[in-house]
Amino acid sequence: MAEVNLRDIEKTFRDNLTVIPDLNLRVREGSFTVLVGPSGCGKSTLLRMIAGLEPVTQGSIEIGGRDVTDVEPSNRDIAMVFQSYALFPHMTVARNIDFGLRLAKTPAAEREAKLMEAARLLNLEDLLDRKPAELSGGQRQRVAIGRAIVHNPGVFLFDEPLSNLDAALRTKTRVELAELHHRLDATMIYVTHDQIEAMTLADCIVVMNAGRIEQVGSPMTLYKRPETRFVASFIGSPR
Ligand code: ADP
Ligand code: MG
Repeated sequence: MAEVNLRDIEKTFRDNLTVIPDLNLRVREGSFTVLVGPSGCGKSTLLRMIAGLEPVTQGSIEIGGRDVTDVEPSNRDIAMVFQSYALFPHMTVARNIDFGLRLAKTPAAEREAKLMEAARLLNLEDLLDRKPAELSGGQRQRVAIGRAIVHNPGVFLFDEPLSNLDAALRTKTRVELAELHHRLDATMIYVTHDQIEAMTLADCIVVMNAGRIEQVGSPMTLYKRPETRFVASFIGSPR
């Protein structure tokens, strides 16, 4: 697991649209940190900058004490799970999960061990020979998480991973994610616009609004002592 440190981050897109003016955030090592905020407030952009999929305009990013601001995504000790599962339709579940290991030329024995470990953790053992089209939405999402797990990242980045699932499956997968966090030695940064997800999964919630952080705190702190009207209306207790 690894700490993530964002210092003076600015993000301005080409058309001079500044979506994040100046953001500072320390994500505690091993925490389950949830970024919440309305659509368009910059959550995905922030996650993509941590992943290295989007360059920062200003500022620096440290992961595990190392400055990775100019480091390729594949060398950042992170793995990202997207809302759209981005599985390869023509490959089996097993091939989808160990694709990255094959790319990295991981020896077959080690690859097999990591694949089986991920399958066991995610309850996918009986589905390894299926194709994505033969899976439910929840199963596909578990495959997408499996693809991240085999790399043993210090930091998992999730961008609204449950938003394509129906309500019942969302609840079930949420519980599985919480268990997974307990079993893996990893820091999780999880983006959602769903207050319930944030309140039940997080040990730390970061409330964002229009590219800025409104408040950082435990679910209970935000609920009981929201510091701004925005936090109160988004997550706070009704009063
Ligand atoms: P969220 O994930 O919180 O819904 P995003 O990070 O996707 O928000 O988007 C934040 C803002 O940045 C939005 O106004 C969006 O239109 C803008 N944005 C995102 N990506 C790009 C891009 N590649 N080019 C220009 N503007 C973008
Ligand atoms: Mg988004």
